[in-house]
Amino acid sequence: MSQQEEAQSDRQKYEFKKVIEDLKEYKGSGTQLVSIYVPEDRQISDVVAHVTQEHSEASNIKSKQTRTAVQDALTSIKDRLRYYKTAPKNGMVLFSGAIDTGGGQTDMVTKVLENPPEPFQSFVYHCDSEFLTEPLEEMLGEKGLYGLVVLDRREANVGWLKGKRVEPVKSASSLVPGKQRKGGQSAQRFHRLRLEAIDNFYQEVAEMANELFVPKRHDMDGVLVGGPSPTKDEFLDGEYLHHELQDKVLGKFDVSYTDESGLYDLVDAAQDVLAETEVMKDKRQMDDFFKQLHDGDLATYGFEATRKNLVMGSVDRLLISEDVRRDVVTYVCPNGHEEREVIDRRKETPAHTCEECGETVSADEGEREDLIEHLMAIADQRGTETKFVSTDFEKGEQLYTAFGGVAGILRYETGI
Ligand SMILES: [Zn+2]
Repeated sequence: MSQQEEAQSDRQKYEFKKVIEDLKEYKGSGTQLVSIYVPEDRQISDVVAHVTQEHSEASNIKSKQTRTAVQDALTSIKDRLRYYKTAPKNGMVLFSGAIDTGGGQTDMVTKVLENPPEPFQSFVYHCDSEFLTEPLEEMLGEKGLYGLVVLDRREANVGWLKGKRVEPVKSASSLVPGKQRKGGQSAQRFHRLRLEAIDNFYQEVAEMANELFVPKRHDMDGVLVGGPSPTKDEFLDGEYLHHELQDKVLGKFDVSYTDESGLYDLVDAAQDVLAETEVMKDKRQMDDFFKQLHDGDLATYGFEATRKNLVMGSVDRLLISEDVRRDVVTYVCPNGHEEREVIDRRKETPAHTCEECGETVSADEGEREDLIEHLMAIADQRGTETKFVSTDFEKGEQLYTAFGGVAGILRYETGI
């Protein structure tokens, strides 16, 4: 992935996250909220037929209120599907339903999310009192790309771990003879041939892994190796893998199976290491920041200062706390002064008094945007990398509490 693509996907992921957070808040008074996951290769006409079928079956729902709500949701989804000839890349999700807004009132909500970061594997139709967001959340929750290798002396499998999804790619099986030698062979010769066969097989497995992983080595967060002992140890100690991959090995894990299911076992066995690696990436960012804050001149923090630096193009890395949920309102006073206020996402837009000249700008004149999207848009234009930092460790928590969730590492000193 190029840096630009990565920035785009981070931004898209954030936009998805935001929509999901809203969707999770919604409740229906009955089982009337419809969620439909459409994989890329699914015919839109099939989806329409399915929705039509559900619509006619909904006429059996006893509660009139729920029946009407479900049918309205399905009609709304069908209307949206008209805009599509084929499903977008990686598929799409449609959400629709009458949500409770309190006091017996409802509000009809319809949302379509296109191009999820990973492809949907299967078609899902779901009708409940809540929207089904878990499949999307799973996709967005975890970052990371890891290479997986499982092997014993008989077979090997390699594949990817992308986020939480295991993707088996290639397999190989060996011609290594069993420990039992045939009659007539000398023990020594048998032993030598057997070691040779093992060595050949390790080489074959390494070639298979190199072919898959080497082109992606700069995007990968690590390599996990699994299998019984001593196979995985021999394989790693013998340094069969390309040296750059060898350096990326995060650990070796005991795994009983070396078929495709072994890849899943490997990921299970490596859970602690994976969690640690994810946090480590964020830790490194914050360590760099604090080093500059205490001993250097290249740290900036807080919304205003970081934004100014961003606009100047002086920010190398923009660090945003994953927990930031704020909006920014831009006001232009009658005398042309531009000022901004950061407010809580749930709060109404306030009126603003210009600090420069004292003129008042009314609430509806303020242009309101999501704070993260606002900053990321500037970062994209200036070639600044954006890094999201979790609050799962002390310095990440500090970014959120002490610096307003926004900081940056500069390319050069600016004095701002
Ligand atoms: Zn003013």
